[in-house]
Formats: sequence, C-alpha cells, structure tokens
Amino acid sequence: MVEKVIILGGGPAGLSAAIYTAREGFQPLVISGFATGGQLMLTTLVENIPGFPDGVMGPDFVMQMRKQAEKFGTRFIDSNATAVDLKSRPFKVIVDGNVHETETLVIATGANAKWLGIDSEKAFIGHGVSSCATCDGALFRNKNVIVVGGGDTAMEDSAFLTRFAKSVTIVHRRDSFKASKIMADRVLKNPKIKVIWNSAIIEIKGDVSVKSVSIRNLSSNEITEMPIDGVFVAIGHAPNTEIFKGQLDLSQNGYISTTEEVLTGIEGVYVAGDVADSFYRQAATASGSGVKAALRVREYFQGKE
Ligand SMILES: Cc1cc2nc3c(=O)[nH]c(=O)nc-3n(C[C@H](O)[C@H](O)[C@H](O)COP(=O)(O)OP(=O)(O)OC[C@H]3O[C@@H](n4cnc5c(N)ncnc54)[C@H](O)[C@@H]3O)c2cc1C
Repeated sequence: MVEKVIILGGGPAGLSAAIYTAREGFQPLVISGFATGGQLMLTTLVENIPGFPDGVMGPDFVMQMRKQAEKFGTRFIDSNATAVDLKSRPFKVIVDGNVHETETLVIATGANAKWLGIDSEKAFIGHGVSSCATCDGALFRNKNVIVVGGGDTAMEDSAFLTRFAKSVTIVHRRDSFKASKIMADRVLKNPKIKVIWNSAIIEIKGDVSVKSVSIRNLSSNEITEMPIDGVFVAIGHAPNTEIFKGQLDLSQNGYISTTEEVLTGIEGVYVAGDVADSFYRQAATASGSGVKAALRVREYFQGKE
C-alpha cells in the first residue's frame, strides 16, 4: 500500500499537519518517534500558546492535538524512522525494519535542546531549569537566574531575562564569549548581568524547584555554592536530521534547508517546525508551519487531478 502522506514527528508541527491532512481525507500516517508529543512533553505550564488565558500544561496540550488528529482518521506509529529514501518515487520510510511507501512526506522531527548532562539537571527541567528564555522568562519576575553559555543565544537570553529577573548571572566555561562582539559588549555593559568565567555548574539542588547550584572553577577546581531560582541552559540545539543526510540539503548547523517556507526542493517533501527553524522555536510557529506543509500536500494532490 502506498500512503498519500506520511508525517515524521509527533510534536506540534507534525500533529498540526496531521489534523489538516486528516480533515482533507488523506488518512495520514504519523511516525511520531520515541519522543511522542515532542519537546512540550518536557514542560509544565505553558503560558504563551494563544487561546489559553490561564496557561495549559505542555503534555496536555500536545495530547489534545493528538486526540484531535486521531478523531479525523490519523494513524500513529510511536517509533523512530531509521532511514528514508527520497531519491525515487514513491518515497520510502523505514520504521522497525518495515518499509512504508508514500506519495508525500512531511518532515517534522524537531530539535533537542542541548543540556548540561549532569544528573541533577533532569529532575528540575520545567521546575526551574529551562532551555527557553522566551517561553519561561516571565515566570522568573524578581528572581535571580543563571544563564549557561557564551554564544549569541546566551547573550540574547541574558539581555531578555533582565526584563523580568532581579539579577542574571552568566556561567561560562571559558574566559571570553564566542558570541558576536556587539552582543557580548552589550551584555558586559548591562549592570543587571554578572559573569562567572572559567566555570561550570556541577550540581543543581532544590526541593520542588531549584534553590541553588554548585559551581566549579575550571582553573582552580574550587567549588562554590550559589543560591538561585532558575537556570537557563543556552548552549545550543541539535536538530533531528541524521536520517536526512545525503537526501536533503542541510545547513551548516544541521537544520533542513528550505527553498521557500516549508518547501525542500523535492516536490512532495515538505518540512515543518523546529527541524528547519533555528530562530523562532515556539509551539505556535511550529504548529503554523505544520499547517502550511499540510496545505502544500493538498496543493500537490490538486495538481495531480
Ligand atoms: C523545556 C521546554 C520548554 C518549552 N516551553 C515552550 C513554551 O512555553 N512555549 C512555546 O511556544 N514553546 C516552548 N518550547 C518550544 C516548543 O516545545 C518547540 O518549539 C516545539 O515543540 C517544536 O515543535 P516540533 O513539532 O517542530 O518539534 P518537537 O516538539 O521537537 O517534536 C519532534 C517530534 O519528532 C519526533 N522524531 C524525532 N526524530 C524522529 C525520527 N527519526 N522518526 C520519527 N519521529 C522522530 C519526536 O519523537 C517528536 O515527536 C519549549 C521547549 C522546551 C524543550
């Protein structure tokens, strides 16, 4: 059987594409990956998704989207695709050793924030540890926060967080920033921002939320304790594009390159959400591009009629 549309990814982008293509009657097959629901499964209260004045729990939001997609006839496989062949038609997707053929493909495999990788970090994600200042900054009004990183994102996040936080401390492994000079200078001149150089967080402590961190000076090995309310990890994102290497054009940092919005350059292959977006990285923007991809699927089949 050749599917009309396979969607890779079960986060906001993939699920939005599923809702739209399912309502068109294409009976989409979503390969939603092992992280079904996507990044929002790692959050607690999300306050910036339009339509929820009291906020909505991230996992509840995506599971409602999934239910909506199922209602219109979407089928799901909660495994990762391990390979794709986009060089001949129908396109092929390999999942659990099985080959699935499809006329069109929507790629919405998202990205993962890079984390510090220390044991105590995981327990506090969504409870004081965040990888998204835009998403969670407003929750730290009049609080003291740390930003980890030394690139442009860390600079942007630090400057943004000063709008809410009482103080922002950047913890950076080196003795200078790799961010552009103009952004680094702006941060260094900001009286609300302090920098702890040559240092790394080695432990995050708290009860229901973060209360303090242990910081190791990487030159002297000296360890200090610092009371803190929040830790923003801004050390980059890794798009999930391993299986598309050699099949699609990828940017230098691994994101899928688009020719125009959701178009990839291969007719019938569309891309949506964070997997092609190193800038916006929001649930609403991911969802919007999933809708665009679905409308391109419709256009593809209208063109065939
Ligand atoms: C801690 C945290 C808090 C956040 N808070 C907010 C917030 O408050 N507001 C906001 O707007 N945004 C927030 N975001 C960002 C938001 O979650 C993302 O922008 C959004 O989830 C991106 O959606 P997506 O569908 O593109 O990708 P993702 O959500 O990353 O979903 C990707 C999907 O692809 C699947 N996948 C990956 N590889 C494969 C494969 N090989 N085969 C099949 N499937 C695969 C995964 O299993 C997953 O289902 C937050 C993110 C994090 C990490």
